[in-house]
Amino acid sequence: MRRSAAGGARLKQPTGVRPAPAFIIVAAIVLIAFIIIAGWLVRSGTALSGPESAAADNGMTDDGFDSIFADAEARAIAQAADHSQLPSVLEDVEGITVDLIPLNEYSRPGVPLEGVNAIVIHYTANPGSTAQQNRNYFASLADSGETSASSHFVIGLEGEIIQCVPLDEKSYCSNNRNSDTISIECCHPDASGAFTDATMQSLIWLTRYLAEGYGLDSDGVIRHYDVTGKLCPLYFVEHEDEWESFKEAVFEK
Ligand SMILES: [Zn+2]
Repeated sequence: MRRSAAGGARLKQPTGVRPAPAFIIVAAIVLIAFIIIAGWLVRSGTALSGPESAAADNGMTDDGFDSIFADAEARAIAQAADHSQLPSVLEDVEGITVDLIPLNEYSRPGVPLEGVNAIVIHYTANPGSTAQQNRNYFASLADSGETSASSHFVIGLEGEIIQCVPLDEKSYCSNNRNSDTISIECCHPDASGAFTDATMQSLIWLTRYLAEGYGLDSDGVIRHYDVTGKLCPLYFVEHEDEWESFKEAVFEK
């Protein structure tokens, strides 16, 4: 069969046609391919450079903007690599209110996490603000575009917990660890950065819940300070002993 097909193809080759039209067709195809590839390169270049340079201190300093709305294939790969037993949205967990930020490039890019290797603790640095206000601030960045920032969870002054970003997506909170960590922002009543008892109890509970879900030990619970040296969470940076007792409380049997 192959032989006859090859022979047929050879027979069909036009013998009296000059080579010029074939050359022009090939050249046109090459030119079109070049234009498509060049256009694609330019587009992906601008997408990466714009928001990244504006992100400054708020955690968006990695490769975040290559896909604002992650495609199904990337999400499937991320989920296959995730060995945790936790659902991505904790709507059935008592004590957690789910109020997800809508997909947008400044606070919820929809980029899959590459895994979960740590939980990063933060403070809001905005004394007296509530969990809902902080969640709404993250959501408002979609319109204002003033910076890139978000957190998977915010814990309020009364100990209330709001989930803002699904656990299989990146938040913009922990700089170069955005890609493999879950972030928790904690509200605080004053400039000392100390948490209320209610906030602390919820933080211990939530951190334990996540650490068990992801199989993390004490080394897998870190401060923003441990990532970049930023004074966050302030109280746990200035009081190393309190930080250690917090971690002991999380992992005590
Ligand atoms: Zn922080």
